[in-house]
Amino acid sequence: QLRKQNVLQCKDVVVSFGGFRAINHFSFSIPRGELHFLIGPNGAGKTTFLDVLCGKTKASEGEVIFQEEHDLTTLKEFEIVRKGIGRKFQAPSIFPNLTVYENLEIAMKQDKRIWSILLAKTTVEQKQDIEAQLELIGLSNLKDVQARILSHGQKQWLEIGMVMMQKPDLLLLDEPIAGMTEEEEEKTGELLLKLKQKCTIIVVEHDMDFVRKFAERVTVMHEGRLLCNGSMAEVQANERVMEVYLGR
Ligand code: ADP
Repeated sequence: QLRKQNVLQCKDVVVSFGGFRAINHFSFSIPRGELHFLIGPNGAGKTTFLDVLCGKTKASEGEVIFQEEHDLTTLKEFEIVRKGIGRKFQAPSIFPNLTVYENLEIAMKQDKRIWSILLAKTTVEQKQDIEAQLELIGLSNLKDVQARILSHGQKQWLEIGMVMMQKPDLLLLDEPIAGMTEEEEEKTGELLLKLKQKCTIIVVEHDMDFVRKFAERVTVMHEGRLLCNGSMAEVQANERVMEVYLGR
């Protein structure tokens, strides 16, 4: 199959809440396989932009082209998931009384109705998929414990693993290291580097040390617009970025 160059191409996206434009003609594109960080001061429109990508919020203008063919602004949330966009929300989504393994198993069958999740037998291939995911997120040795006893960091990795069970082409993460210890942050960064072998990743992040360490490319949003994008070095050298962050 032909590998498409741009996973995402946004043109002149506008999102209004009443008369207020949270996103104001935002345009940017992102090539396949990139670990891309979206940064900007509070209220810049980052979360709203992720909401547009997953169909939770509708753009009133502009287009968001996924895989160079689907305009996401015309699709419903469940259709966008099926097209291959996965998002880990900040609100917890794990089932605390199920084991780590069972959480991944359920996530894999998420598109099914609840009775078929219970009835459908997990195939050998699917079991291998789950084991591989456990390995990737570093929870193989904890697969049979109830998810409730995991540390905060481990829960976050499990949630990322759950989103990955749907094999997305684009993974959206909102402040994945919030509340983590330094050691957990480091492990999360390493996990992201591994995951980008499998899919393109957009991370909204406030922690600049983390961005500096792991970002391949960075996009800076400000007042709903694109301020600049490029490597971390390029972004840091941009005077307007400094103005925006330091408030002149
Ligand atoms: P960021 O994630 O960069 O901090 P947000 O996308 O959360 O920014 O918010 C961008 C702007 O849009 C903010 O001024 C925020 O108050 C406003 N906003 C976000 N969601 C809504 C909403 N549902 N209704 C009204 N205003 C909103």
